[in-house]
Amino acid sequence: MSYVLPVPRVPAVPVAGGEPGAQFAVHRIYCVGRNYVDHAIEMGHSGREPPFFFMKPADAVLPVAEGEIGQMRYPSLTHDLHHEVELVVAIGKGGKDIKAADATGHIWGYAVGLDMTRRDLQGEAKKLGRPWCIGKGFDQSAPIGPVRPAAQCYLTAATRIELDVNGAKRQSSVIGKLIWSVPEIIEQLSSAWELAPGDLIFTGTPEGVASVIEGDTLHARIDGVGALRVAIVGG
Ligand code: MN
Repeated sequence: MSYVLPVPRVPAVPVAGGEPGAQFAVHRIYCVGRNYVDHAIEMGHSGREPPFFFMKPADAVLPVAEGEIGQMRYPSLTHDLHHEVELVVAIGKGGKDIKAADATGHIWGYAVGLDMTRRDLQGEAKKLGRPWCIGKGFDQSAPIGPVRPAAQCYLTAATRIELDVNGAKRQSSVIGKLIWSVPEIIEQLSSAWELAPGDLIFTGTPEGVASVIEGDTLHARIDGVGALRVAIVGG
């Protein structure tokens, strides 16, 4: 068999604490909407509803190695680019109808990610009942730090998730405030799609989402998982 065009590059994210140069190949990117009560409220919702999902293309990842500053081009068509810091779950073992009690065995590791959002375009899509793709699934919309193997992560309900922009705090919460826990998300998600090794799940953002502009530097971190630095550069 042969391909008529060159085979596209496999999107991948560096691995933390492993062999130098080791990469985590990305299969799909799933995202959870409104998974922290105070963020759901700031977006005009009650904060209590079943989880819902959207996706980004796998090649929307902007991988940022440890100690580096990722360069994200300010995207086209928007005047309101928002940050959303999120805990990212990296799936190592696939499956469908995974029970929450068995979910941990399917997790390869965790990373810090940014669900970057063209909020004006997302808002328009919501108003018109259209898909969110243009607001959520654009190029470089998923900056992500190295994936750290689960055994090397230390996550509890008190684990802090935070984001600074130019050194000023914008988002600050704890993982325990997730409405739907990571095992519950895996149970729900795998009832709708068969999960596969290489899937990334962005688990939702806490309150404090806001705009960034060209020249801003974002510093996201989750204790026990890692950190991620991204600079917004000219489009
Ligand atoms: Mn999000």
